[in-house]
Amino acid sequence: MKIGIDLDDVMAICSVPYLRRFAQEFNVELPDESQIGWHLLSQKEIGAGYDTVVPGLEKVTPEQRDQFRIRLYDSTFFAELEVYKDCPVVLERLVAAGHELYFITARAERRRYITETWLREKGIFDHAKAVHLKPVGDFRPEYPRGRYDPAGSADYKVRLANELELDAFCEDDVVISQTLAKAGVRVFLFDQPWNREVRGERITRVTGWSDLAQHLGI
Ligand SMILES: [Mg+2]
Repeated sequence: MKIGIDLDDVMAICSVPYLRRFAQEFNVELPDESQIGWHLLSQKEIGAGYDTVVPGLEKVTPEQRDQFRIRLYDSTFFAELEVYKDCPVVLERLVAAGHELYFITARAERRRYITETWLREKGIFDHAKAVHLKPVGDFRPEYPRGRYDPAGSADYKVRLANELELDAFCEDDVVISQTLAKAGVRVFLFDQPWNREVRGERITRVTGWSDLAQHLGI
């Protein structure tokens, strides 16, 4: 099979260190680690009185969040992420079993160096046929700079899935996984606190890399 694999929160442990830094910066207290995730930053959920909302978060404006994200991503943040346990060994076995792997991230193309250096350090760079980052011209100009854009990233990943004729995609994002599945791509949804509601045709939830290996019979 040709398999697309997302980076952040699939290979790299990203949301927990991000939220920890965010909490430090804005002086808010986070829930238990198992509950930490991108859903805590969702403003819609805050407005609707989301029950795990972080006290104090409502005073951080969208602009402050965007600025924080830009500053953090421009720092050494991506270089310092941990890789999920079992990810390297399962990737190795997937390749040995004849699967073709494509690492596909919505990180901006200008982050290629820090991204590929990280992949090399973790010993997983060579498992990929190619590493794709979001091209410079691919960002929606009307969209606030620095703000996470799941719809734009979903379009980008569906386009690549078609171009590369991918059979499957490993993903954690709610919008991206559903868009890929609708476009006919089988999705292995890596379980995270923010995607628990996601289900549907062509979507298989996996608890992590060992679980994925079992599903693929390797
Ligand atoms: Mg991700």
